[in-house]
Amino acid sequence: MGRNEDPSKIMITEFGAARSVGGSKLLIEAGLDNVLVDIGMAFDRIKDSARLPFNSESLDAIVLTHAHLDHVGLLRKPLNSGFKGGIFCTPETAILTEQQLRRRFIFESEDCAKGFDYEKTFEISRNVDGTFFYAGHIPGSALTLFEVKAQHRKRIRLLAAYDMGRSDYSDAGLAILNSPYSDFSNIDYVIVEATYGNNNHTPLQKSMKVLEDSINDTYKKKGKMVVPAFSIMGTHKFCNFLYHLNKAGRIPNDMRFYLSTPSSESVTRVMLKYKHHLHPQFQKLLADRNDNPLYNPHLFRHKDLNKTLNFLREEGPYGVVASSAMCNIGRIVPILENTIEDEKNLVFLTNYVAEGTRGHAIRYSNKGANISFEDGYKTLLADVVKGHGFSCHTDIQETMEFLEKIDPHRGLKGIFIKHGTSKNCDAARRHIIENLGYAPEKVIVMERKQAYEL
Ligand SMILES: [Zn+2]
Repeated sequence: MGRNEDPSKIMITEFGAARSVGGSKLLIEAGLDNVLVDIGMAFDRIKDSARLPFNSESLDAIVLTHAHLDHVGLLRKPLNSGFKGGIFCTPETAILTEQQLRRRFIFESEDCAKGFDYEKTFEISRNVDGTFFYAGHIPGSALTLFEVKAQHRKRIRLLAAYDMGRSDYSDAGLAILNSPYSDFSNIDYVIVEATYGNNNHTPLQKSMKVLEDSINDTYKKKGKMVVPAFSIMGTHKFCNFLYHLNKAGRIPNDMRFYLSTPSSESVTRVMLKYKHHLHPQFQKLLADRNDNPLYNPHLFRHKDLNKTLNFLREEGPYGVVASSAMCNIGRIVPILENTIEDEKNLVFLTNYVAEGTRGHAIRYSNKGANISFEDGYKTLLADVVKGHGFSCHTDIQETMEFLEKIDPHRGLKGIFIKHGTSKNCDAARRHIIENLGYAPEKVIVMERKQAYEL
C-alpha cells in the first residue's frame, strides 16, 4: 500500500473477499488517503496467519460495515501494529465487535466515540466522507455510501452494498430488521455481493412449513428438537418464526424451547438497546413485554450449560437452541453428543454448513453413520432436517431489484462484484448483464489485490 503517489487518483482494491466469501478488506485510495473498509478473517484461518497485505501505519481510517468475523475478525492486527486512525461504525457494530473479539478498543478510538448513526454523513479522512444506511443483514449492519475526492477530480459516489439483507421478510410480516435502504440516487459505482450467485431463496411460506412439520413430528414422537443456530440473528430468526407459528396455531401450544446460548442473549440486549433501529413491525411486537418473539411463555433460558445437559435427561417433547450453527464449537457440541443417538430426536439445521465441519457431516451422512466428537464417535440416529429462511443475504432477485431502484437509467459507471465463490461471482455478473442490459465492461468481478481506478 501507499502505492498511490498520485494525488488525483482514486482506486479500490479488495484484499480478501474477491472470488471468495471470507476475509473482506477493501482499500479505498483517495489521492494520498488510505481508507480500509472492513478487516475480516478468512474462513480458512491459515491464510490469516500471514501479515496484513498493507502497512497499518499508512491507514488513515478503518470503516466497519458490520460485526461478522469475516468483516472485523482481524481488527486486532492493525491496532497492535501502529494504526493510529479512527474507527468508524454504527454503535451496534462497535458493541458486537468488541463482544466477539473480547476486547474494548473501538470505543477507545476518539473518532468513533459512541458510533455513528444511520443517515448522518461524517468525515472519514480529508478526501473521504461516509454515510451509513440500513443493510438489513444483522443488527448494526450498514450499506455505506462513500463520497470520495481527489485533486482536480469531481467527487465520486461509491456505494458499498454487500452483506445486504433480504427484503422478503418485511412483505411476509416476518421482519426483525429494516429492509435494506435503496433510495439512493446519482451513484457512480456500486459494489454488490454474489453470495447466492444467480440463485433465489426458498419462499418464506415454504420455509415456515418445513419448520412447522419438524416441530410437529418431534412433538408426536416425544423427541427433542436440537437447533444449532448462529448467535447473531440465527437464534433470533428461529424464535421469531416460532412465535408466528404459535400465534397461527400451527404448532402445539405446549411445545417448549430452551435457549442455551448466552452469546445470542448479549446480541438480544444490543438489539433492545437500539430498538429504534429494528423494523417497525417488530418494534410493535416487542411492546408486549411478556409475549413477543424474543420473550414469551414458550421460551426458557439456560444460563448454564450443565443445566441444559442435566435437563437433556428428561423426556421430550421439547427443543434446545444453541450455537454454533456449524456444530464445531460451542454448547451445541455436547448437546448433539447427548441427543443424536436417539431416533426420536431431530436435528434442525438453520444455516449453511461448510465442508469439513461437524454440521456438514451431520447433514450429509446417512442414518447409522458415525459422527466424530472429541471423546469418540456417536451414531447418528436422529432425523436431520435442513431448514430454510435463515440466510441474512440478498438473493439475485433482490440484488437485481436493488440495482434497478438505485439506477433506473443505467447511468452507473461500474458495478463491482465480490463476496461469493468464483462460480457465483461469474454467474451473478452474467445475470446482471443479461437482465439489466449493462455493457459487459461495466460489470466487474473483483480479483484479489487488483487495484481498480475509478
Ligand atoms: Zn455478514
